[in-house]
Amino acid sequence: MSDQTTTIAQIKDNIRSFVEERDWQQFHSPKNLSMAIAAEAAELMEHFLWDDADQSRKRFSDPQKAIEIRQEIADILIYTFEFADEAGIDLTEAIAQKLEKNAQNYPVNKSRGNCLKYTEL
Ligand SMILES: [Mg+2]
Repeated sequence: MSDQTTTIAQIKDNIRSFVEERDWQQFHSPKNLSMAIAAEAAELMEHFLWDDADQSRKRFSDPQKAIEIRQEIADILIYTFEFADEAGIDLTEAIAQKLEKNAQNYPVNKSRGNCLKYTEL
C-alpha cells in the first residue's frame, strides 16, 4: 500500500475492519475519537518539545526517532479517518471546501511570505 495507489475509502475500510474485529466501535464515539486525535497530536508534539525550527527539521535524521514520529502521525490519521467515517464526512470534499475557504481568507497577494491570521491581513 502507498499514497499513490490507495484510496481514502480503502483506508477507511481497513480501519473499520480493525475496529470491528475488536468490537471497539462501542468506545469510539465522536467525543472519544476527537479526544484521541488530540492525545495523539500531543504525543507527536512531545518529539519536538523545546526544539527550535532547525532542530525540529533534524529530528528525522535519527532513524529511531523517525520511526516513532511516523507512528504518531499514523495514530493521528487513523483516529481522524475513523472520526470522519463515523461522522459521515467525505474527507476529499471537506478538504477541498476548506482549502477553497482558506484561499478566500488568505489571498496570495496579502498572505504570501507572512503568517498573519486572516483577521489581521
Ligand atoms: Mg501514539
